Amino acid sequence: MDNPGAKTDKDLLKGEASEHFRCLILGSGPAGYTAAIYAARANLKPVMYTGMQMGGQLTTTTEVDNFPGYPDGVDGTAMMGDLEKQARRFGTDVRFGLATAVDLSGKIKKVVIDGDKVLSADSLILATGATAKYLGIESEEKFKGNGVSACATCDGFFFKDKVVAVVGGGDTAAEEATYLAGICSKVYLIVRRDELRASKAMQKRVFNTKNIEVLWKHQTKELKGDGVVQSVELYKNKGEKDEEIVSINIDGFFLAIGHTPNSEIFRDYLETDETGYVKTIPGTTKTNVPGVFAAGDLQDHVYRQAVTAAGTGCMAALDAERYLGELE
Ligand code: FAD
Ligand code: NAP
Repeated sequence: MDNPGAKTDKDLLKGEASEHFRCLILGSGPAGYTAAIYAARANLKPVMYTGMQMGGQLTTTTEVDNFPGYPDGVDGTAMMGDLEKQARRFGTDVRFGLATAVDLSGKIKKVVIDGDKVLSADSLILATGATAKYLGIESEEKFKGNGVSACATCDGFFFKDKVVAVVGGGDTAAEEATYLAGICSKVYLIVRRDELRASKAMQKRVFNTKNIEVLWKHQTKELKGDGVVQSVELYKNKGEKDEEIVSINIDGFFLAIGHTPNSEIFRDYLETDETGYVKTIPGTTKTNVPGVFAAGDLQDHVYRQAVTAAGTGCMAALDAERYLGELE
């Protein structure tokens, strides 16, 4: 049973903060750690809360081949370990904990950690990323990193000259399918309806690409394979009289059914687009709230790469430094 006397996040936000920082960073992906490196070197004495996924999305992948500086590629978890070491080397105080609520209404920003304590900061860098949506089937989880991916730009190269499937019917799916078609021998696009949601221009690209085959009105049942993905079972015309189960041989299975930016706790204060990505002033990481900066996938629905996240992390620290300089 819940403790009836326990303080809620709202109660906590009304009270005094137990610690105050010049620069507080939420999130420990490439954006958060890069912001930390720059903020620490600028003597902002940053404190970082890592969230539940220390190191961010790259800790869920094996090889990262496209981050500059690693000519032979690098294991995602190892790379994030390197970024953490670099951030600590300049004095970043890295702490494990999740921000559960914020109050961004005043000059001093307040953040509740783990529903337990309240902290305050003069500047806040938000780098809480975005989470790829998955279908929620058991075999998808089983083959993650062994044929199942949610990022064609990241993992497509591992499927050179192989057969892959992409699930989804939006712009992301269309884009990922055409990207993969340039690398793979064949791409199946698994679409649950009899039309694409993607823009007309993207649809045209899909239909004009010879090695993409659209499987209309198909839905994923299960992935099969011995250690790695080897085939996918699909419902064709699910729920209709002629429903049947078909199986196709594939080497890779790419999810492209959308992402969810981790912006929920900020939405009362920050402007977001209709899908929840935090809006920033173009060319900066400034949000609509002075002193609050957003970096990485949290504010980027277009590129969503480690190097772009790191780039905006750097920008956020520089923007925060300037903001603090103007305050003093
Ligand atoms: P993330 O990496 O998403 O990190 C978000 C951080 O915020 C996490 O540490 C999380 O714990 C924390 N957090 C979330 N909520 C809270 C909260 N409330 N309080 C505190 N902390 C919070 N990109 C490439 O460039 N190359 C690749 O090869 C590549 N491979 C990929 C493979 C996979 C399987 C996936 C899923 C993505 C891949 N990407 C790749 C994309 C890349 O991982 C992201 O673009 C990048 O990690 C985004 O960085 P970020 O710092 O914005 O956020
Ligand atoms: P989206 O537009 O929300 O499309 C998601 C797609 O996945 C839809 O086709 C949806 O099917 C399908 N889907 C969702 N859940 C599913 C499930 N459980 N099983 C099977 N299919 C499922 O997401 P997005 O494509 O990531 O695009 C997000 C935003 O970014 C959009 O505004 C898009 O225009 C933009 N974007 C633009 C570009 C570009 O301009 N180049 C590129 C990428 C993204 P239904 O259609 O049946 O709902």
